[in-house]
Amino acid sequence: MPRPSAVVTALAVGLLVLAGCVSSGSPAPRAAGSPSTAAGRRGTGPSPSRPARPSKSTSPSEPAGPQPPKTTPPGPPPPSSGSPRAGATRRGPAGSIKGTGSDAVALTFDDGPDPGHTPQILDLLKANGVKATFCLVGFRARDEPDLVRRIVAEGHTLCNHSWQHLLNLGQLTPDEIRHDLQQTNDAIHAAAPGAPIKYFRAPGGNFTPVLVDVARELGMRSIHWNVDPRDWDRATYGTGQPMVNHIIWAVQRYTRPGSIVLSHDAKPDTIAAYGQLLPWLKARFTLIPLPT
Ligand SMILES: [Zn+2]
Repeated sequence: MPRPSAVVTALAVGLLVLAGCVSSGSPAPRAAGSPSTAAGRRGTGPSPSRPARPSKSTSPSEPAGPQPPKTTPPGPPPPSSGSPRAGATRRGPAGSIKGTGSDAVALTFDDGPDPGHTPQILDLLKANGVKATFCLVGFRARDEPDLVRRIVAEGHTLCNHSWQHLLNLGQLTPDEIRHDLQQTNDAIHAAAPGAPIKYFRAPGGNFTPVLVDVARELGMRSIHWNVDPRDWDRATYGTGQPMVNHIIWAVQRYTRPGSIVLSHDAKPDTIAAYGQLLPWLKARFTLIPLPT
């Protein structure tokens, strides 16, 4: 009978492959170019051809692109509720937070830092005087320390988005999850010592009770969202202007007082959309970085 950890590993590897397919178009992780160096330095990384314990891998073959939550069907995001304040109080999966808890709206940008795109969204936010929350992937934070420092220096809030965006992170053991999240925090703190990391978002929003518990042990609240324009879903919304139009429409249609809005900073169409959305949002809502 196989050990439970072996079963989990097999599952993880399978999903890792799947995730790489779904997130086509995302830039390949730079870490993949130097696996032996990265792994050797930490002593935990398996060889790329034989991944053994996904949460400890330091050089994923999977881009950290956004993945669809398994429970969300294609199509426009559902409204948060008929109540304008509902987003402030509703709970997300496994007890994660689904609203800001006030009338303020929090914009969240996932899967960076990305050297080609994150500076553009940071420029836009700065030009509009808006602070947001950035959910960083660990190996990318390791590879882009200057961007991590810029995010912090410009007053945005940090959120841990796991080391390499494993969609089934919640199925690993608590120790493996703890290692993954701690490794991510360590990479962020190597770039920005002492910066508060008070939030965690599960890859794909796939929160489980153990994920939420481990994140809490590490001092992080788990944040879901209640506005999701699905800016990664090219198959449904296309690219270029159709996607830009869709993102603008979805955010304008569903954002309410208290909303947490999910977006991805490594998407050119998302950046184009926010060029129009930020003035629109500012005129209607108080936009905040999640409080630290
Ligand atoms: Zn993500």
